[in-house]
Amino acid sequence: MSADALANARHLIACESVTPARGPVFDMLEEMLAGLGFEVDRFSRGEGAEGTEEEPVENLFAIRRGPAGKPHFAFAGHVDVVPPGEGWASEPFGPEIRGDLLYGRGAVDMKGAIACMVAAVAEIPADAGTLSFIITGDEEGPALHGTRALIDRMRERGDIPDMCLVGEPTSVNRLGDMMKIGRRGSVNIWLEVEGTQGHVAYPHLADNPMPRMVAILAELDALELDEGTEWFQPSNLEITEFDVRNRAHNVIPGKAKARISIRFNDLHSGASLSEKVIAIAERHGGKASPVISGEPFLTPPGAFSEMIANAVKAETGIDPECSTTGGTSDARFLKDLCPVIEFGLVNATMHKTDEAVAVDDLATLTAIYRRIAMAALSS
Ligand SMILES: [Zn+2]
Repeated sequence: MSADALANARHLIACESVTPARGPVFDMLEEMLAGLGFEVDRFSRGEGAEGTEEEPVENLFAIRRGPAGKPHFAFAGHVDVVPPGEGWASEPFGPEIRGDLLYGRGAVDMKGAIACMVAAVAEIPADAGTLSFIITGDEEGPALHGTRALIDRMRERGDIPDMCLVGEPTSVNRLGDMMKIGRRGSVNIWLEVEGTQGHVAYPHLADNPMPRMVAILAELDALELDEGTEWFQPSNLEITEFDVRNRAHNVIPGKAKARISIRFNDLHSGASLSEKVIAIAERHGGKASPVISGEPFLTPPGAFSEMIANAVKAETGIDPECSTTGGTSDARFLKDLCPVIEFGLVNATMHKTDEAVAVDDLATLTAIYRRIAMAALSS
């Protein structure tokens, strides 16, 4: 069963697993991997109430050890999915083939890719080297107890891979046209300026916080963080909210709030940007509260990206572009273990109604993953 990527994908999609995922979808994956000789380690993290950020999350680490001295190659991904939303032509958790496409929530992001990883390893001999799966149920949610907890678990076990491939859907127009060798970091910063509320006709009795907030935002908006690097586009800072909730024309508001969001390359860290913004806010009498959601990562082009490019070229004839665009992914955590690159299906329908994967792409991606793993294990 596990050598057939399409069958694997149907089984995984049929297990409803809106983030955070627990239970049946992991049972299914465990059955597939155990059948291929993997030792499966499942564990939960988080002890809060349902619907909170501390809600329990399930994770799975599976390993099949090869001979000592051979490399350890890891596949990483997530089995949780975003909620399906309304208006599907078929059941979001009832996988269905129409035409050349397999429909279902998670078909491309990213149960389809996990189905291909399993099918790929089904035909790799056990003596080729050590293979592992790093699979979380919390990538689409707060990601507090997902891949970070898996990394702790792997460190405790002493199972650190030499290379890791994340199967996020990175292809854009055709399977194979793009891999991600890095991602930008992300920080959101809440800004606040306190004043004194009062009557517009008696400004000497009030203190309007808005001119100070405008000055802060103007200074932030004028910042040029950098001009980009060889592999990254320039970092950008966007003002995402400015609000005084003032319904009256004759009132000077007592408080002004705003928020900015910065996507940044590897010339910065979340902490260095936070310090910069806090200093600007304080200079104008305001305050800034940053929340860093991810640091950037970069695996510079080299042996690993070449393995992926060679595998893609052999199966599709395409030379994949090495990109660092897009949002954050769990590679932001995995980079702490070993070199990590992301490569997977065409992302056109991810998170959308009627998410679908081309059936042919599942077979092609399986062949690509098998080539990458074999190249990594013999490196
Ligand atoms: Zn994903």
